[in-house]
Amino acid sequence: MQFVPWRRLADWKCTACGDCCRCYSVVLSFPEWLRIVENYGIEKTTSDIDKLYIRRKENGVCPFLYSFASLSVCGLQHIKPKACQLWPFKILPKPQYGHASEAAYDAFQNRVFIYADIACRGLRFGRPTWEFTNHVLREFLEIALGSRSVQLKTTSALVFADTRRVFSPPYVVRRL
Ligand code: SF4
Ligand code: SF4
Repeated sequence: MQFVPWRRLADWKCTACGDCCRCYSVVLSFPEWLRIVENYGIEKTTSDIDKLYIRRKENGVCPFLYSFASLSVCGLQHIKPKACQLWPFKILPKPQYGHASEAAYDAFQNRVFIYADIACRGLRFGRPTWEFTNHVLREFLEIALGSRSVQLKTTSALVFADTRRVFSPPYVVRRL
């Protein structure tokens, strides 16, 4: 993984390429693990000594990834893990990947440091647009802080094609 500070990015829009759902293991919090187990069965998850994960299929792909033609959509939108909601951004209390002045982001009377993984195809390099700075990154920050769960600017526009109704079986959301 290689990270760049957000000030080197003009914008980000998910292209629904699905690369991130084919290449990475998704780490789950305990409540996220429990929701997946209750709705889809424990076999959709796995663990190691100290972490819980979505169990990838034999070909390495997330079992909740659905494809239409060349587009990929998450079938877990209604209970999407935070690791997936925040990808490809890392929002950190310290400038862990350097370039502190370019990574600093001030909001809600706090300073955080935001980086993006350059493996994501949705990144566009350049001078940050107003929309990216004030809406997209703000929404990512709200998700990271736990003050927002609904994604508007931080997911593929395909989600608004009512994929939730198509893909999501009745589900249980337990409040923990
Ligand atoms: S977040 Fe990036 S890598 Fe993942 S599907 Fe969207 S464009 Fe592709
Ligand atoms: S849960 Fe959804 S976003 Fe996360 S890896 Fe699976 S398909 Fe992709």
